[in-house]
Amino acid sequence: MASVSSSPSDAYSEGLGGFLESLAASHGSLGHPQLCQRPCVHMAKRGSCSLGSACRFCHDTHSKAPLKMEKAQREIMQAMRKEDVRTLLIPHIQKRLQQLELTEKAASLLLLFGQELYSDVQHAFKDINQRDLSKLNRFLARLPLLALVKYFPSTSPTTVDAQLDLLRSELDQQRALMQGVVIQL
Ligand SMILES: [Zn+2]
Ligand SMILES: [Zn+2]
Repeated sequence: MASVSSSPSDAYSEGLGGFLESLAASHGSLGHPQLCQRPCVHMAKRGSCSLGSACRFCHDTHSKAPLKMEKAQREIMQAMRKEDVRTLLIPHIQKRLQQLELTEKAASLLLLFGQELYSDVQHAFKDINQRDLSKLNRFLARLPLLALVKYFPSTSPTTVDAQLDLLRSELDQQRALMQGVVIQL
């Protein structure tokens, strides 16, 4: 009978280097907590991940499970015109960027999104129930930046992805700076 207790990918069998690597921040952690990817299940379960820094999921601590939109709300948003979805999302994205002090760094992203908005705001939300709209707004107000951007129907997703990468490195620089300050104290 073969033992299944230690697989070749087991972090502990790869020595200290492998062990440290298994605790490393991952590719998916970039921009944590506002722009990182979903939390890594291995990290959450075992406190380590054999993929180490190459893992595309987030290795940082997430206190809560990611917020999920209710089915009814999802259907309402899917039925909305793209212009309405954009008009709905833009204030939330702007607010989050302000909170993160990223407004300046996100200028190109906001410009890009601005081009995809209604030229005439009078037409926005014409056939949408006011209660549904408030409910959606309350939900969106709780989402991290990445989730908001993912809901935005953009006409140039590759440009958006490149802009997000810039914002991720900016957030990580901010974070490193903060940690530096804490260590010096
Ligand atoms: Zn994260
Ligand atoms: Zn992982």
